Amino acid sequence: MSILRTQALVIKETNVGEADKIITLFARGKGKVQASARGARSPRSRLIAGTQFLCYGDFILYKGKELYRVSQSEVIENFYNIRNSIEKLSYATYFVELASEAIDEGYANNNLLKLLLNTLHMLSATNKEPRLLKIIYELRLMSIIGYAPNLIVCTNCGSNEQKMYFNSAAGGLVCTNCLPKLKSRNSLMLSEGALYAMRYILYSELNKIFSFEVSPKVQDELDAITKDFLLTHIGKEFKTLKYLENIITTTKYGH
Ligand SMILES: [Zn+2]
Repeated sequence: MSILRTQALVIKETNVGEADKIITLFARGKGKVQASARGARSPRSRLIAGTQFLCYGDFILYKGKELYRVSQSEVIENFYNIRNSIEKLSYATYFVELASEAIDEGYANNNLLKLLLNTLHMLSATNKEPRLLKIIYELRLMSIIGYAPNLIVCTNCGSNEQKMYFNSAAGGLVCTNCLPKLKSRNSLMLSEGALYAMRYILYSELNKIFSFEVSPKVQDELDAITKDFLLTHIGKEFKTLKYLENIITTTKYGH
């Protein structure tokens, strides 16, 4: 019987039968892995804590006929504070769904796992604005999975003039001259502040990407850009994101 010892984040749990569940793990060196956790919902189970959604831990898995089976799990980090806030939990759920969409089953992506864990840590342990975390996470994720936008020169003519637009279908910057020539007319205004922030998110070391602030106006701009960029290249609308947009609007305008 083959054994897999790995550190992994629980990205989904599905209840099965009376006390069992099937969990999906994002595992270091292994990517997305499904495993059954027998008896994990019973109060006396040794697996009860380590197999919960958003738990990061050490796992020992046995390869069964179809699925792996969780033999041991030990919590490293459970991102406790995320569980106390519906807003934070919704953001975390979206982060996990996006990662899950971006990786194929059985393919490791340790950089993406690290980005996800760092983002969850920032969401849990700091007061950094969740919407800014979302922007940073989305942009860096796209770069990790091979969709880094060109933020250096115009994607069409290579010029590097000061005034630039962003076009998702073109894959990055577009200059004023090339703007009318593009097939996709959906170009977004790009302020100097937004461009600077995007470059910082893309080109800094992974553990430094969260250490900057931007004005609410630049945040709005970045939010519109990442939203459009993800929709163009991932092509999926996330339910959790819709829900988040609703609660953010409600908080902002008080109705
Ligand atoms: Zn151009």
